[in-house]
Amino acid sequence: MSRTYLIIAEHRDGKLRQVTLEALQAGRLTAQEGDRIAAVLLGSGLATLAQELAAYPLAEVHTIEHDSLAVYNPETYMAAIAPVLASLKPHAVFTGHTAIGRDLAPAIAAKLAAGQISDVIAIEGEGSDAVFTRPLYAGKAFERKGFTTEGPFVVTVRPNNIPAAAPSSDGATAGIVAVDYAPAPSLRTIVKDVVRNMSGKVDLAEAKIVVSGGRGVKSVDGFKPLEELADVLRGAVGASRGACDAGYCDYALQIGQTGKVVTPEIYIACGISGAIQHLAGMSQSRIIIAINKDAEAPIFKVADYGIVGDLFEVVPLLTAEFRKVLAS
Ligand code: FAD
Repeated sequence: MSRTYLIIAEHRDGKLRQVTLEALQAGRLTAQEGDRIAAVLLGSGLATLAQELAAYPLAEVHTIEHDSLAVYNPETYMAAIAPVLASLKPHAVFTGHTAIGRDLAPAIAAKLAAGQISDVIAIEGEGSDAVFTRPLYAGKAFERKGFTTEGPFVVTVRPNNIPAAAPSSDGATAGIVAVDYAPAPSLRTIVKDVVRNMSGKVDLAEAKIVVSGGRGVKSVDGFKPLEELADVLRGAVGASRGACDAGYCDYALQIGQTGKVVTPEIYIACGISGAIQHLAGMSQSRIIIAINKDAEAPIFKVADYGIVGDLFEVVPLLTAEFRKVLAS
């Protein structure tokens, strides 16, 4: 029997988020032959995004357009998605383990009376035999979980872990279905403004390269060499809580147990000691490079490459060298 998998698509600044394509791939890995995969896209001015998404292997893209959906609001988003859930009766819903995904997924699970597995980093098997891996205890252990019922189920995927889906190889495009949406006359919550506090041009959660600074950067200006290195590598800047608490940078950059969890290809820790609470947010990075003047700093225990030295000497040298190599 053909079942429907629904991907909740996210976009930012007119671009599809990479994690949406990763959620789509997660759905494709889990779906069985004959299952259909659809996506739902919410917002205003969605025409270009819908066409872009339709180029991926999807049965259809449902678009819900309204000015009130331009910024995320759990109440309006759930009200808009509910009719799509009612008509598609999805067997599974996949979305990114992002701020929006983490908020929306439990509401969808409740609506569907579905089970939920969050923060998935790997999938084995398919259909009701699929086994989902998720980190536990700040990345010290991994849990492999499956659903005991036939469905429906809801899954959120951690950014940068599951390879992103590629566009349909045969050039096929999915149908675009416009869904009517009339906002409720009264809302309990109204989002008046969204103040974005990003480290730079690259979203920290999805960055392939993160250059992070700790208390060792010593000042607001101490972050400048790190920003330059991140710029050259087209990465994002992160920080330890030590650096945030000291007022050297904004808390939006904090990585760790009480900050963001990142899994970039390369994590460069500069002047960070490597406290367990920091490791909780970055230890799953593919390659960890530590720069610290203390050879005994615990960060070197998790680092693949370590440089014992003063970050104010090492970081500019790395920036100059990468700039040269990348230019040639
Ligand atoms: P420090 O531990 O002070 O380390 C600074 C490092 O810089 C040292 O290793 C030093 O050798 C090196 N250094 C100094 N100067 C230079 C230089 N010129 N060149 C090279 N190296 C230099 N922390 C987080 O990061 N994220 C969290 O989410 C988080 N959550 C927490 C939650 C709780 C409940 C608690 C209790 C703590 C949490 N912490 C978190 C704090 C954590 O325990 C550490 O205090 C913090 O990570 C330390 O930050 P740091 O490594 O930048 O500073």
